[in-house]
Amino acid sequence: MTTTYDYLIIGSGIAGLYAAILAREHGSVLVLTKGSIDDCNTRWAQGGIAASVGPGDSPEKHLRDTIEAGAGLVDEEAARVLTSEASDRIGDLVSLGVPFDTVHGEVALATEGAHSTPRILHAGGDSTGAHIELTLASVARLEGITVLEHTIATEIVTDGDRATAIRALDTASGERTTYACRALILATGGAGQMYQTTTNAEVATGDGIAIAYRVGAEIMDMEFVQFHPTALHLPGVQPFLISEAVRGEGGLLLDTNGERFMAAYDERAELAPRDIVARAIRERMLATGSDHVLLDVTHLDPGLVTARFPQIFRFCADSGINITRQPLPIAPAAHYTMGGARTNTWGETNVAGLYAAGECACTGVHGANRLASNSLLETVVFARRVIQRTIDAPDGRAEPAPNAGSLRPVPSDAPGASDIPPLTREALQSLMWREAGIVRDGESLARAASVLAAWQSTLAAPTDRPSQELADLLTCSRLVTEAALSREESRGAHYRSDFPEPREDWHRHLVFRRNDVA
Ligand SMILES: Cc1cc2nc3c(=O)[nH]c(=O)nc-3n(C[C@H](O)[C@H](O)[C@H](O)COP(=O)(O)OP(=O)(O)OC[C@H]3O[C@@H](n4cnc5c(N)ncnc54)[C@H](O)[C@@H]3O)c2cc1C
Repeated sequence: MTTTYDYLIIGSGIAGLYAAILAREHGSVLVLTKGSIDDCNTRWAQGGIAASVGPGDSPEKHLRDTIEAGAGLVDEEAARVLTSEASDRIGDLVSLGVPFDTVHGEVALATEGAHSTPRILHAGGDSTGAHIELTLASVARLEGITVLEHTIATEIVTDGDRATAIRALDTASGERTTYACRALILATGGAGQMYQTTTNAEVATGDGIAIAYRVGAEIMDMEFVQFHPTALHLPGVQPFLISEAVRGEGGLLLDTNGERFMAAYDERAELAPRDIVARAIRERMLATGSDHVLLDVTHLDPGLVTARFPQIFRFCADSGINITRQPLPIAPAAHYTMGGARTNTWGETNVAGLYAAGECACTGVHGANRLASNSLLETVVFARRVIQRTIDAPDGRAEPAPNAGSLRPVPSDAPGASDIPPLTREALQSLMWREAGIVRDGESLARAASVLAAWQSTLAAPTDRPSQELADLLTCSRLVTEAALSREESRGAHYRSDFPEPREDWHRHLVFRRNDVA
């Protein structure tokens, strides 16, 4: 007989584990996760988590910065929820045991790009995510929450128009099982693995977004992919994030001729929003014919650098660079998926029984460009609201978006199999980086859309974790590309060289809902 869990939570990053810990007080909980418990983006988060807890700061100021960064597309109601519930959620994390750094007994607050005041809490210097993940995993274990590792969710099951179960594959035994539930919470993270160069963990393949799309959930804002300006760029070394906080502490960007260049692009110089810095770096790399620029902290107190950024210092030292003595080579990398399963402020999708929290969700708080350190905050604020909603109004769902479109059917004139490379994760990542990356245009996006459609037309049913992830990356890439092709303007993280300015008629979201294609 199938057990029906009160809560089935997919993913064991901050959103999944925090939701599980709260849900435990209200019913039976099962967490499925496709790798080990700590295989997630959360454990790599460095800079910290934003909250207006410092002197002179307020939720209203935090809200203003969030709206300003989001380039006209932030949902004000959702962002107000985010910023006004921030300090309570920080209190919860402290109660669970997250050891935020302090100075003289007061919480230490850092500055990051586009925040008007210091408001970033961090732990272990630049190891915030690792501390959060370790703490939540320990609490989950102590609470006796079952976490099934190496189990990948592959399909949402519906009864009528309600999500009632998930099909999953045990990647060790190859066995497929259906798990029934009253509330299904997707906490599967982002889709950074669509791109060749990314700071994201291997598991960030957009599975939750893709399986939600296939079951009729609305997917919003996929054209907005945030590229982080500063990832370590060394041959043979995986791009490793060099936190925004390094520039917040005074780190300078130099081109390979040793010249500072950011002031020519924005009066905030190194502390300009990420999209501006990422495009400036890309342009400077092209101008100097180099595949990187330099991030320099050699003028800062070495004691401060090693104390504040121990993880970055260690990683670079292991790669042969002493950052207190030499500038480090960096280049932009895909970093954050602003889009995802569209939810209301209670984490409900338009499918009853299906909730989304964390990076796989699109609550609207980031608009077209996420304000640094708002994403960890979003996970806990909205995960908590999901659990609250399952108690107060378990049969609710988000109002459908008025103008949802669906992915176009695969065109009959899509290039034949002989004209395109075989579909592999690497081929997809390289296509997306080249044609739908930091700077796009109509022609490059049309080329990408046509290759992706051809791949879709020949895709076999997934049989294991790699083929499932590839199918999910393909769905997410098609959503990104089609949305980016439709949006004939530049806004936030979406930059089209053929439409370099924002346009008033594009002051709206793009939402995709499946009809019968893809
Ligand atoms: C290098 C780096 C640094 C960052 N620094 C910061 C920062 O300083 N501040 C900040 O606010 N944000 C930061 N971010 C972003 C932030 O870390 C993430 O947005 C956040 O951790 C996402 O949490 P999550 O729980 O939604 O997803 P994740 O932590 O990615 O967890 C997703 C989970 O879902 C599981 N999963 C996925 N698909 C399936 C499936 N099909 N079946 C079963 N399980 C599945 C994964 O294995 C994983 O356990 C950073 C991101 C990166 C990559």
